[in-house]
Amino acid sequence: MIKRLAKSVLRVSANLIGPHHWRRGPCLLVLTYHRVLPEGHPDRASEQPGMLVTPELLAMHFETLKHYFTPVHLDDWLRAAKAGDPPPGRSLAITFDDGWRDNYEHAFPVIRAAGMPVTLFLVTDMVGSRYQFWPNRLARVLKAWHPKHAQHLDEATKRQLVSLSVPLDIVGAEATPELIDAVIGRCKVASDARLHALLDQVEAVLPDASSAGGDETARDLLDWDEVREMADSGLVRFGSHTRRHTRLREDLKETQLEDEIAGSRRILKEKLGRPAPLFCYPNGDCSPRAYAVVKDAYEGAVSMQRGWHAPGEDPFMVKRIGVHGDVSQFSTGLLGRVSGWKGL
Ligand SMILES: [Zn+2]
Repeated sequence: MIKRLAKSVLRVSANLIGPHHWRRGPCLLVLTYHRVLPEGHPDRASEQPGMLVTPELLAMHFETLKHYFTPVHLDDWLRAAKAGDPPPGRSLAITFDDGWRDNYEHAFPVIRAAGMPVTLFLVTDMVGSRYQFWPNRLARVLKAWHPKHAQHLDEATKRQLVSLSVPLDIVGAEATPELIDAVIGRCKVASDARLHALLDQVEAVLPDASSAGGDETARDLLDWDEVREMADSGLVRFGSHTRRHTRLREDLKETQLEDEIAGSRRILKEKLGRPAPLFCYPNGDCSPRAYAVVKDAYEGAVSMQRGWHAPGEDPFMVKRIGVHGDVSQFSTGLLGRVSGWKGL
Protein backbone atom coordinates (compact mmCIF):
# COMPACT_ATOMS: atom_id res chain seq x y z
CA MET A 1 0.00 0.00 0.00
CA ILE A 2 2.76 2.43 1.03
CA LYS A 3 4.83 1.29 -1.93
CA ARG A 4 1.91 1.95 -4.26
CA LEU A 5 1.36 5.38 -2.75
CA ALA A 6 5.07 6.22 -3.05
CA LYS A 7 4.98 5.17 -6.68
CA SER A 8 2.00 7.36 -7.47
CA VAL A 9 3.75 10.32 -5.78
CA LEU A 10 6.81 9.65 -7.94
CA ARG A 11 4.62 9.47 -11.04
CA VAL A 12 3.08 12.85 -10.23
CA SER A 13 6.60 14.32 -9.91
CA ALA A 14 7.63 12.72 -13.20
CA ASN A 15 4.53 14.27 -14.74
CA LEU A 16 5.94 17.70 -13.85
CA ILE A 17 9.53 17.19 -14.97
CA GLY A 18 9.39 14.18 -17.36
CA PRO A 19 10.88 14.01 -20.87
CA HIS A 20 7.48 14.73 -22.48
CA HIS A 21 8.23 18.38 -21.54
CA TRP A 22 11.86 18.72 -22.55
CA ARG A 23 13.13 15.90 -24.71
CA ARG A 24 13.87 17.09 -28.22
CA GLY A 25 13.26 14.83 -31.19
CA PRO A 26 13.45 12.98 -33.25
CA CYS A 27 12.34 10.35 -30.77
CA LEU A 28 9.49 7.90 -30.44
CA LEU A 29 7.31 6.81 -27.54
CA VAL A 30 5.59 3.47 -28.17
CA LEU A 31 2.77 2.48 -25.82
CA THR A 32 1.43 -1.02 -25.18
CA TYR A 33 -2.23 -1.82 -24.59
CA HIS A 34 -4.02 -5.15 -24.36
CA ARG A 35 -7.70 -5.28 -23.41
CA VAL A 36 -10.26 -2.48 -23.46
CA LEU A 37 -13.25 -3.37 -21.28
CA PRO A 38 -15.90 -1.14 -19.70
CA GLU A 39 -16.34 -1.10 -15.93
CA GLY A 40 -18.50 -4.03 -14.83
CA HIS A 41 -17.69 -6.24 -17.84
CA PRO A 42 -17.59 -9.90 -16.67
CA ASP A 43 -14.22 -10.56 -18.35
CA ARG A 44 -12.56 -8.09 -16.01
CA ALA A 45 -12.79 -10.68 -13.20
CA SER A 46 -10.39 -13.11 -14.91
CA GLU A 47 -7.99 -10.53 -16.28
CA GLN A 48 -4.75 -9.22 -14.76
CA PRO A 49 -5.07 -5.54 -13.76
CA GLY A 50 -2.00 -4.80 -15.88
CA MET A 51 -3.89 -5.84 -19.02
CA LEU A 52 -6.90 -3.51 -18.83
CA VAL A 53 -8.13 -0.03 -19.62
CA THR A 54 -11.70 1.23 -19.93
CA PRO A 55 -12.79 2.94 -23.18
CA GLU A 56 -13.11 6.23 -21.25
CA LEU A 57 -9.56 5.93 -19.95
CA LEU A 58 -8.24 5.13 -23.42
CA ALA A 59 -9.93 8.28 -24.76
CA MET A 60 -8.39 10.32 -21.94
CA HIS A 61 -4.93 8.87 -22.70
CA PHE A 62 -5.20 9.78 -26.39
CA GLU A 63 -6.42 13.29 -25.61
CA THR A 64 -3.68 13.93 -23.05
CA LEU A 65 -0.83 12.53 -25.13
CA LYS A 66 -1.76 14.56 -28.21
CA HIS A 67 -0.67 17.70 -26.32
CA TYR A 68 2.90 16.43 -26.08
CA PHE A 69 3.40 14.05 -29.01
CA THR A 70 2.63 13.73 -32.71
CA PRO A 71 0.83 10.43 -33.37
CA VAL A 72 2.37 8.32 -36.15
CA HIS A 73 2.08 4.83 -37.59
CA LEU A 74 4.92 2.80 -36.11
CA ASP A 75 6.05 1.30 -39.43
CA ASP A 76 6.09 4.74 -41.09
CA TRP A 77 8.33 6.12 -38.35
CA LEU A 78 10.75 3.15 -38.48
CA ARG A 79 10.95 3.34 -42.27
CA ALA A 80 11.64 7.07 -42.19
CA ALA A 81 14.28 6.59 -39.47
CA LYS A 82 15.96 3.88 -41.55
CA ALA A 83 16.06 6.28 -44.51
CA GLY A 84 17.72 8.86 -42.25
CA ASP A 85 14.70 11.14 -42.25
CA PRO A 86 12.67 10.52 -39.07
CA PRO A 87 9.85 12.94 -38.22
CA PRO A 88 11.15 15.82 -36.09
CA GLY A 89 9.98 16.18 -32.53
CA ARG A 90 8.41 13.68 -30.16
CA SER A 91 6.34 11.02 -31.96
CA LEU A 92 3.84 8.62 -30.44
CA ALA A 93 2.95 5.14 -31.71
CA ILE A 94 0.13 3.14 -30.12
CA THR A 95 0.19 -0.66 -30.11
CA PHE A 96 -2.31 -3.31 -29.00
CA ASP A 97 -1.17 -6.89 -28.35
CA ASP A 98 -2.96 -10.25 -28.86
CA GLY A 99 -5.95 -9.22 -31.04
CA TRP A 100 -8.75 -9.07 -28.48
CA ARG A 101 -12.31 -8.80 -29.72
CA ASP A 102 -12.86 -5.91 -27.30
CA ASN A 103 -10.34 -3.93 -29.34
CA TYR A 104 -12.98 -3.86 -32.09
CA GLU A 105 -15.97 -3.36 -29.79
CA HIS A 106 -14.55 -0.85 -27.33
CA ALA A 107 -11.23 0.54 -28.63
CA PHE A 108 -12.04 1.02 -32.31
CA PRO A 109 -14.75 3.67 -31.67
CA VAL A 110 -12.25 5.58 -29.50
CA ILE A 111 -9.50 5.20 -32.12
CA ARG A 112 -11.85 6.53 -34.81
CA ALA A 113 -13.08 9.45 -32.73
CA ALA A 114 -9.49 10.46 -31.94
CA GLY A 115 -8.17 9.72 -35.45
CA MET A 116 -5.37 7.83 -33.72
CA PRO A 117 -3.05 5.62 -35.82
CA VAL A 118 -2.42 2.26 -34.14
CA THR A 119 -0.72 -1.07 -34.79
CA LEU A 120 -2.47 -4.20 -33.60
CA PHE A 121 -0.51 -7.44 -33.24
CA LEU A 122 -2.47 -10.58 -34.11
CA VAL A 123 -1.94 -14.22 -33.18
CA THR A 124 -2.87 -15.39 -36.65
CA ASP A 125 -4.07 -18.97 -35.99
CA MET A 126 -6.31 -17.78 -33.17
CA VAL A 127 -8.18 -15.11 -35.15
CA GLY A 128 -11.90 -15.99 -35.17
CA SER A 129 -11.38 -18.85 -32.70
CA ARG A 130 -12.48 -19.40 -29.12
CA TYR A 131 -8.90 -19.91 -28.03
CA GLN A 132 -7.94 -18.80 -24.54
CA PHE A 133 -4.43 -17.76 -23.51
CA TRP A 134 -3.08 -19.82 -20.64
CA PRO A 135 -3.00 -16.90 -18.15
CA ASN A 136 -6.76 -16.44 -18.67
CA ARG A 137 -7.40 -20.17 -18.33
CA LEU A 138 -5.33 -20.21 -15.16
CA ALA A 139 -7.15 -17.19 -13.73
CA ARG A 140 -10.53 -18.80 -14.40
CA VAL A 141 -9.40 -22.07 -12.82
CA LEU A 142 -8.19 -20.26 -9.69
CA LYS A 143 -11.49 -18.39 -9.42
CA ALA A 144 -13.45 -21.64 -9.68
CA TRP A 145 -11.11 -23.62 -7.39
CA HIS A 146 -11.86 -25.40 -4.10
CA PRO A 147 -9.29 -27.50 -2.18
CA LYS A 148 -11.61 -30.54 -2.48
CA HIS A 149 -10.96 -30.64 -6.26
CA ALA A 150 -7.32 -31.50 -5.60
CA GLN A 151 -8.25 -35.08 -4.63
CA HIS A 152 -9.40 -35.76 -8.20
CA LEU A 153 -6.08 -34.75 -9.73
CA ASP A 154 -3.55 -37.45 -10.53
CA GLU A 155 -0.28 -37.37 -8.61
CA ALA A 156 1.86 -36.26 -11.58
CA THR A 157 -0.39 -33.27 -12.24
CA LYS A 158 -0.39 -32.34 -8.57
CA ARG A 159 3.40 -32.56 -8.44
CA GLN A 160 3.74 -30.30 -11.45
CA LEU A 161 1.33 -27.73 -9.99
CA VAL A 162 3.19 -27.74 -6.70
CA SER A 163 6.52 -27.34 -8.50
CA LEU A 164 5.09 -24.20 -10.13
CA SER A 165 3.78 -23.01 -6.72
CA VAL A 166 0.17 -23.03 -7.90
CA PRO A 167 -1.86 -22.94 -4.65
CA LEU A 168 -4.20 -25.93 -4.35
CA ASP A 169 -5.48 -25.01 -0.90
CA ILE A 170 -7.40 -21.85 -1.79
CA VAL A 171 -11.07 -21.29 -2.48
CA GLY A 172 -11.93 -19.22 -5.51
CA ALA A 173 -12.98 -16.17 -3.52
CA GLU A 174 -9.41 -15.86 -2.22
CA ALA A 175 -8.04 -15.58 -5.75
CA THR A 176 -7.47 -11.82 -5.70
CA PRO A 177 -6.01 -10.07 -8.76
CA GLU A 178 -2.68 -9.82 -6.89
CA LEU A 179 -2.62 -13.55 -6.16
CA ILE A 180 -3.56 -14.40 -9.76
CA ASP A 181 -0.83 -12.07 -11.03
CA ALA A 182 1.75 -13.74 -8.81
CA VAL A 183 0.76 -17.29 -9.84
CA ILE A 184 0.86 -16.36 -13.54
CA GLY A 185 4.29 -14.81 -13.02
CA ARG A 186 5.61 -18.01 -11.40
CA CYS A 187 4.17 -20.24 -14.16
CA LYS A 188 6.10 -18.41 -16.87
CA VAL A 189 9.09 -20.68 -16.26
CA ALA A 190 7.14 -23.52 -17.94
CA SER A 191 6.58 -23.80 -21.68
CA ASP A 192 3.24 -22.84 -23.25
CA ALA A 193 2.62 -26.45 -24.30
CA ARG A 194 3.23 -27.76 -20.77
CA LEU A 195 0.95 -25.15 -19.22
CA HIS A 196 -1.90 -25.86 -21.64
CA ALA A 197 -1.56 -29.61 -21.05
CA LEU A 198 -1.60 -29.05 -17.30
CA LEU A 199 -4.67 -26.82 -17.51
CA ASP A 200 -6.47 -29.53 -19.54
CA GLN A 201 -5.97 -31.86 -16.57
CA VAL A 202 -7.08 -29.30 -14.01
CA GLU A 203 -10.17 -28.14 -15.91
CA ALA A 204 -11.25 -31.77 -16.25
CA VAL A 205 -11.68 -32.10 -12.47
CA LEU A 206 -13.71 -28.92 -12.05
CA PRO A 207 -17.42 -29.75 -11.75
CA ASP A 208 -18.54 -27.13 -14.20
CA ALA A 209 -15.84 -27.02 -16.83
CA SER A 210 -17.57 -24.20 -18.64
CA SER A 211 -17.27 -21.96 -15.58
CA ALA A 212 -13.51 -22.46 -15.71
CA GLY A 213 -13.20 -22.48 -19.46
CA GLY A 214 -15.58 -19.60 -20.00
CA ASP A 215 -18.87 -19.40 -21.85
CA GLU A 216 -18.73 -21.83 -24.76
CA THR A 217 -20.32 -19.30 -27.06
CA ALA A 218 -17.99 -16.46 -26.11
CA ARG A 219 -15.25 -15.47 -28.53
CA ASP A 220 -12.55 -13.38 -26.86
CA LEU A 221 -10.47 -12.70 -29.96
CA LEU A 222 -11.06 -10.72 -33.15
CA ASP A 223 -12.31 -12.43 -36.30
CA TRP A 224 -11.10 -11.63 -39.83
CA ASP A 225 -14.18 -9.53 -40.70
CA GLU A 226 -13.52 -7.27 -37.72
CA VAL A 227 -9.83 -7.13 -38.63
CA ARG A 228 -10.62 -6.12 -42.22
CA GLU A 229 -13.08 -3.46 -41.14
CA MET A 230 -10.48 -1.95 -38.84
CA ALA A 231 -7.82 -2.15 -41.56
CA ASP A 232 -10.12 -0.44 -44.06
CA SER A 233 -10.37 2.58 -41.73
CA GLY A 234 -6.72 3.32 -42.53
CA LEU A 235 -6.14 3.98 -38.83
CA VAL A 236 -5.40 0.42 -37.76
CA ARG A 237 -2.49 -1.56 -39.20
CA PHE A 238 -1.79 -5.17 -38.34
CA GLY A 239 1.40 -6.92 -37.38
CA SER A 240 2.29 -10.43 -36.27
CA HIS A 241 2.38 -11.79 -32.72
CA THR A 242 3.24 -15.32 -34.01
CA ARG A 243 0.76 -17.99 -35.09
CA ARG A 244 0.00 -19.43 -31.63
CA HIS A 245 1.39 -16.91 -29.14
CA THR A 246 4.39 -19.16 -28.69
CA ARG A 247 7.08 -17.60 -26.55
CA LEU A 248 10.27 -17.58 -28.63
CA ARG A 249 12.52 -19.28 -26.13
CA GLU A 250 15.68 -21.31 -26.62
CA ASP A 251 13.75 -24.61 -26.62
CA LEU A 252 12.06 -24.00 -30.01
CA LYS A 253 13.29 -25.84 -33.11
CA GLU A 254 14.30 -23.97 -36.25
CA THR A 255 11.19 -25.19 -38.10
CA GLN A 256 8.95 -23.92 -35.28
CA LEU A 257 10.63 -20.52 -35.36
CA GLU A 258 10.17 -20.31 -39.11
CA ASP A 259 6.53 -21.37 -38.82
CA GLU A 260 5.62 -18.99 -36.00
CA ILE A 261 7.53 -15.96 -37.32
CA ALA A 262 7.54 -16.13 -41.13
CA GLY A 263 4.40 -18.30 -41.29
CA SER A 264 2.30 -15.70 -39.50
CA ARG A 265 3.53 -13.00 -41.87
CA ARG A 266 2.41 -15.09 -44.86
CA ILE A 267 -1.04 -15.60 -43.31
CA LEU A 268 -1.48 -11.86 -42.65
CA LYS A 269 -0.53 -11.03 -46.23
CA GLU A 270 -2.96 -13.62 -47.55
CA LYS A 271 -5.86 -12.54 -45.31
CA LEU A 272 -5.37 -8.78 -45.56
CA GLY A 273 -3.98 -8.47 -49.06
CA ARG A 274 -1.16 -6.25 -47.86
CA PRO A 275 2.19 -6.88 -46.23
CA ALA A 276 2.56 -6.89 -42.44
CA PRO A 277 5.94 -5.28 -41.82
CA LEU A 278 6.06 -5.48 -38.00
CA PHE A 279 6.39 -8.21 -35.38
CA CYS A 280 5.80 -8.39 -31.62
CA TYR A 281 7.57 -10.96 -29.38
CA PRO A 282 5.06 -12.84 -27.13
CA ASN A 283 5.85 -12.05 -23.50
CA GLY A 284 8.91 -10.19 -24.81
CA ASP A 285 10.84 -13.49 -25.06
CA CYS A 286 13.39 -13.64 -27.87
CA SER A 287 16.27 -16.08 -28.31
CA PRO A 288 19.19 -15.04 -30.56
CA ARG A 289 17.97 -17.52 -33.22
CA ALA A 290 14.43 -16.11 -33.07
CA TYR A 291 15.84 -12.60 -33.42
CA ALA A 292 17.67 -13.62 -36.61
CA VAL A 293 14.50 -15.10 -38.14
CA VAL A 294 12.48 -11.97 -37.23
CA LYS A 295 15.15 -9.75 -38.77
CA ASP A 296 14.94 -11.75 -41.96
CA ALA A 297 11.15 -11.60 -42.24
CA TYR A 298 10.17 -8.12 -40.97
CA GLU A 299 11.10 -4.45 -41.06
CA GLY A 300 10.90 -4.00 -37.30
CA ALA A 301 9.77 -5.56 -34.02
CA VAL A 302 8.58 -4.38 -30.63
CA SER A 303 9.87 -5.73 -27.34
CA MET A 304 8.82 -5.48 -23.71
CA GLN A 305 11.89 -3.51 -22.71
CA ARG A 306 10.82 -0.20 -21.22
CA GLY A 307 11.79 3.20 -22.53
CA TRP A 308 11.67 5.52 -25.52
CA HIS A 309 13.04 4.69 -28.96
CA ALA A 310 15.41 6.89 -30.95
CA PRO A 311 16.86 6.84 -34.49
CA GLY A 312 19.91 4.61 -34.69
CA GLU A 313 18.61 2.21 -32.04
CA ASP A 314 17.74 -1.38 -32.95
CA PRO A 315 14.44 -1.39 -34.92
CA PHE A 316 14.03 -5.09 -34.07
CA MET A 317 14.01 -4.43 -30.32
CA VAL A 318 11.86 -1.28 -30.10
CA LYS A 319 11.21 -0.35 -26.48
CA ARG A 320 7.65 0.24 -25.26
CA ILE A 321 5.79 1.33 -22.16
CA GLY A 322 2.63 -0.40 -20.92
CA VAL A 323 -0.01 2.04 -19.70
CA HIS A 324 -2.87 0.10 -18.23
CA GLY A 325 -5.54 1.33 -15.88
CA ASP A 326 -3.72 0.30 -12.73
CA VAL A 327 -0.98 2.90 -13.32
CA SER A 328 -2.67 5.60 -15.37
CA GLN A 329 -6.09 6.46 -13.96
CA PHE A 330 -5.30 10.18 -14.22
CA SER A 331 -3.35 12.22 -16.72
CA THR A 332 -0.65 12.98 -14.12
CA GLY A 333 -0.08 9.25 -13.52
CA LEU A 334 -0.10 8.58 -17.26
CA LEU A 335 2.49 11.25 -18.03
CA GLY A 336 4.65 10.10 -15.12
CA ARG A 337 4.45 6.55 -16.38
CA VAL A 338 5.44 7.44 -19.95
CA SER A 339 8.62 9.08 -18.67
CA GLY A 340 9.95 5.51 -18.84
CA TRP A 341 11.87 6.13 -15.63
CA LYS A 342 12.66 3.09 -13.55
CA GLY A 343 10.09 2.09 -10.99
CA LEU A 344 7.24 4.14 -12.48
ZN1 LIG B 1 0.80 -11.30 -26.16
